[in-house]
Amino acid sequence: MSPGPGVVVVGAGQAAVQLAESLRDAGFDGPVTLVGDEPQLPYQRPPLSKEYLAGKLSSAELALRGERFYVDRDIELLAGRRAVHLDRGRRRLNLDDGTELSYGHLVLATGARPRPLPIPGGRLDGVVNLRTLADAQELRQRLAAARDVVVIGAGFIGLEFAAACRAAGPTPVVVDIAGQVMGRAVSAPTAAHFAERHQQLDTRLLLGRAPAELVGRQGRVTGVRLADGETLPADTVAVGIGVLPNVELAEAAGLRTAGGIVVDDYLVTSDPAVSAIGDCAAFPDPRGAGRIRLESVQNAADQARCLAAALTGTPRPYTALPWFWSYQGALRLQIAGLSTGHDRTVVRGEPGKGFSVFCFRDGFLTAVESVNRAPDHMAARRLLAAGARVTFEDVTDPGFNLRAHLRGARA
Ligand code: FAD
Repeated sequence: MSPGPGVVVVGAGQAAVQLAESLRDAGFDGPVTLVGDEPQLPYQRPPLSKEYLAGKLSSAELALRGERFYVDRDIELLAGRRAVHLDRGRRRLNLDDGTELSYGHLVLATGARPRPLPIPGGRLDGVVNLRTLADAQELRQRLAAARDVVVIGAGFIGLEFAAACRAAGPTPVVVDIAGQVMGRAVSAPTAAHFAERHQQLDTRLLLGRAPAELVGRQGRVTGVRLADGETLPADTVAVGIGVLPNVELAEAAGLRTAGGIVVDDYLVTSDPAVSAIGDCAAFPDPRGAGRIRLESVQNAADQARCLAAALTGTPRPYTALPWFWSYQGALRLQIAGLSTGHDRTVVRGEPGKGFSVFCFRDGFLTAVESVNRAPDHMAARRLLAAGARVTFEDVTDPGFNLRAHLRGARA
């Protein structure tokens, strides 16, 4: 893999900025260009549904790097510009303002966009997604005057929004068609604990209930009608029902896509001169769960580091351990590994004080979900990253101690 006359990155988010920085850190001195369709300096998304929404952070504090970073490190940032066409034969990328860029290596770091609401009324005023700074700015403004807030989707973002909403405005109602919060991304004990805590804080949680229509008057939303006939009053509706990867540019250029832009374990697409990283990339799970796509800061940043190493002469397959966090008010959830497909769990600790759920597949530990128990999370990350085999019997042993086990695995 060679960066040739220069690296052009489509998307100027978490993955793109990390890639540019890692390329420079590794001594790459050719041109690096980031093309991003949002107007601001690249920013962090996680605080959008947490501290920013609760009014604890300003938009300037969200920037991933200050303006000087791009100047000092000679990284060309083309903000507010959209890549519209990729000609792989000529190695050229066309932007919406008529600019044509040539590249030695092209990186697609196009992220994802909110899944559209599949019911009528999604375009009414007062209905807002939560993906961009512009979305969060609108929601923050609306919360100051809102009376009736409904959140559609009890996933990470919906529940984070619900917690921030309680802190900044009215107590929301959360509706989800699924029977458990945070879908299949967490185990049943973790989901049950979070559902209970949100309800204790007076959030009405309607699980297993399907929204059928958003109703309005004079173009403004006034309510959410559920399939069973109940209508929830609403002047603000926050929608968080998942995302779709931005694959259109890749697809139109004839690259392989399948639930994401398909890459190999070196993050290269079906064209050796084009890679994909971050939320848009569908990559082979090094732990054998087939092709996966992850939406996390860890994945975006680690894939960027891995690709920068390959482009500067030290290729290695992408094998980083996935980890993730979700902060919902006082609840701090940290996940090491992937619990998808687990068949057994063991809970250690106490719900009131902090606990961890150990998730097993075929007798072996695949993930640890820690709630207000950060030391467990750090130990679990090291243990799983080291490839240590931890069995169901190990963890059910009354004397089991995660940190002691980690020391044993290292010895
Ligand atoms: P992005 O950061 O989305 O960047 C992609 C950029 O590319 C976007 O600006 C997009 O507009 C642009 N783009 C797309 N197509 C084009 C084009 N053709 N031309 C030019 N530009 C284009 N992760 C965690 O680990 N923990 C959390 O607590 C957490 N909280 C989150 C809260 C919210 C509200 C959101 C939205 C996400 C959260 N995430 C969290 C996920 C995390 O932010 C993403 O996984 C991460 O931003 C992915 O980085 P990326 O670079 O792949 O994509």
